[in-house]
Amino acid sequence: MTHMALEMSESLEERCNRILRDMEGSLTARDRVGIQDFVLLDAYTSESAVLDNLRKRFNENLIYTYIGTLLVSVNPYKELGIYTKKQMDIYMGVNFFELPPHIYALADNVYRTMLTETNNHFILISGESGAGKTEASKKILQFYAVSCPSTKLLDNVRDRLLLSNPVLEAFGNAKTLKNDNSSRFGKYMDIQFDHMGGAVGGHILSYLLEKSRVVHQNHGERSFHIFYQLVEGGEEDLLRWLGLERNCQRYSYLVQVGEGECAKVSSVNDKSDWKTVRKALSVIEFSESNIESLFAIIASVLHLGNVTFVADSQGYATLNNSPEIHWLSKLLGIPAQVIQVGLTHRKIEARSEEVLSPFTVDQAVYAKDALAKAIYGRTFTWLVNELNESLANKDSSRKTVIGLLDIYGFEVFSVNSFEQFCINYCNEKLQQLFIQLTLKSEQEEYEMEGIEWESVPYFNNKIICDLVEEKFKGIISVLDEECLRPGEATDMTFLEKLEEKMGGHAHFVTHKLADQKTRKTLERGDFRLLHYAGEVTYSVVGFLDKNNDLLYRNIKEVMRQSKNAIVKHCFPSTEPDSKKRPETVATQFKSSLVGLTEILMSKEPWYVRCMKPNEGKQPGLFDDVLVRHQVKYLGLMEHLRVRRAGFAYRRRYEIFLQRYKPLCPDTWPNWKGTAAEGVECLVKHLGYKPDEYKMGRTKIFIRHPRTLFATEDAFEV
Ligand code: ATP
Ligand code: MG
Repeated sequence: MTHMALEMSESLEERCNRILRDMEGSLTARDRVGIQDFVLLDAYTSESAVLDNLRKRFNENLIYTYIGTLLVSVNPYKELGIYTKKQMDIYMGVNFFELPPHIYALADNVYRTMLTETNNHFILISGESGAGKTEASKKILQFYAVSCPSTKLLDNVRDRLLLSNPVLEAFGNAKTLKNDNSSRFGKYMDIQFDHMGGAVGGHILSYLLEKSRVVHQNHGERSFHIFYQLVEGGEEDLLRWLGLERNCQRYSYLVQVGEGECAKVSSVNDKSDWKTVRKALSVIEFSESNIESLFAIIASVLHLGNVTFVADSQGYATLNNSPEIHWLSKLLGIPAQVIQVGLTHRKIEARSEEVLSPFTVDQAVYAKDALAKAIYGRTFTWLVNELNESLANKDSSRKTVIGLLDIYGFEVFSVNSFEQFCINYCNEKLQQLFIQLTLKSEQEEYEMEGIEWESVPYFNNKIICDLVEEKFKGIISVLDEECLRPGEATDMTFLEKLEEKMGGHAHFVTHKLADQKTRKTLERGDFRLLHYAGEVTYSVVGFLDKNNDLLYRNIKEVMRQSKNAIVKHCFPSTEPDSKKRPETVATQFKSSLVGLTEILMSKEPWYVRCMKPNEGKQPGLFDDVLVRHQVKYLGLMEHLRVRRAGFAYRRRYEIFLQRYKPLCPDTWPNWKGTAAEGVECLVKHLGYKPDEYKMGRTKIFIRHPRTLFATEDAFEV
């Protein structure tokens, strides 16, 4: 319920008190369900008290809690019935703290702030793998889809925005040991709004897809959902056309090495998901021919996986079977003979002439896997571009945006490789952004504005970001250097160089140094990073290969001949010559993260911090140790301290005055003095108490949001 309709005579102070009372609830209720905003109560400053409060609330199915305007969410691992249309209606247009915390409250507030201030915003959703980031981002998108003004044209945009999700998840998500629907790519999505608040378009940026998963998955994990969806759900005649059997076990790329069968996943229904994806592709207006080409590619990857080689009398690779080549030829529209030669040879230059040099069996397998990964990876990029085409807003009038950032979460497996290194580096960067935008800039701002302030110490993970990315010195630089020495460098020489260069770093441990620094032994061939979220041991095996991501030139030329429109598009003849060295994967990723940071820094930030209650994906189980660890590394305590001691809201005098001057006869309609004097006059008239606000050099700082909400309410009275 909103309180706008309460007695007209209620004073501002009374209104503040009432909102405060409502927020805190009665003592008994509070004992049971905990406090919904950590900032509010004095006792909630210790880690144990925070944990206690989270547990209490979790046990009552209250998964959301605020720290000021930051939303903490604990994954319930069950349906709670709190994402209905009715719930959306309840949260629409209501002040932040008038109702129990909810992702809809955050979504609604971002939206309304965007509309009143006509500026751009983003919501950073973070947390480790399986914590609920993707679900949170979907809930936010659904909220906008339902709550924004609607017209026939806008409904069409809304449907496309919503349906881009199942398509991207089919191609970019997979079952891992941490999460049955784990995002294996990073996603940043802008939702564009017109000045009336209608959602008029969108744009997606994707980051480093984990394409190695196409050819190999760890024990108990799966490849990308789309493969299983097609095989399990594809219509009979479609499968016949693609030359596929309805049996995932038939496809080497889907079968776990050493086990002979696919990993099972009970929480995913491939058959019904197939229907959703199929329908989504149509609504997004992919042409039937593009859809056909897309499935032909998925099937080709499966066929490619089944291609095997045997050594001829000279030890060179020859193809062992022909049905796969037949299907590849048909689906990719490339003569079988050309594919055969492409898979078993590479072009080399000898005396300024190009000659074909045959592969050994190992080389051929390597080249085949590289091709499968390249086809899939490039198709994914094509898919994102197509979605963007479909979501693009053609009208050029000024728009404001809300960006949603949902990226792969921090992850630690028993064996961690290059992929985890990239994913965890990305999470370091996001944590760094969070620190910069909240803890650091907040405190710097108080100083700049001349507000008295006792500084709150925090762990700054910049030191780890630097360790990974610093020019000439960081791990990525060392890796790139080694990638420049083909034939000489190996994963082990890379490790030796790391040891040499980073040995003394506080966050880097190798085999030699393990005992001294963490008292835990390390295998030869491993290095360990002490990330902000915990220690991760990386095996260097495959680092050089994966960073190089080499695809032989002649196989690219083979693909260029394809009659499949998507493949043709993905292997353009204008592609830079392979003689010129392309950027390595890690360096490309690093640059894309710099780009992302720039995009985000230009917008107003909002945060959702997602947490995992247990490692077993179980409902109702709250593992204290696990949650405490997350509270620690997510920086929640520091954030809470800064928030409690600081000011929840700040605005430049000009903007504040502009918005609220109608509430005071002295400032309305035109204030003659400076904006700061106008604000002073305004807040005196509104009855702000001295400890509720501070006047800085250029801005007013307001301690509690409730003060501001009461002011907002005054418009209604
Ligand atoms: P990753 O980094 O691996 O992509 P993630 O943080 O995106 O992980 P999600 O995929 O959002 O994690 O969530 C994992 C699973 O947890 C979901 O598939 C769902 O079963 C459950 N889950 C998450 N959030 C909620 C929620 N709010 N209500 C009910 N179940 C949820
Ligand atoms: Mg996810």
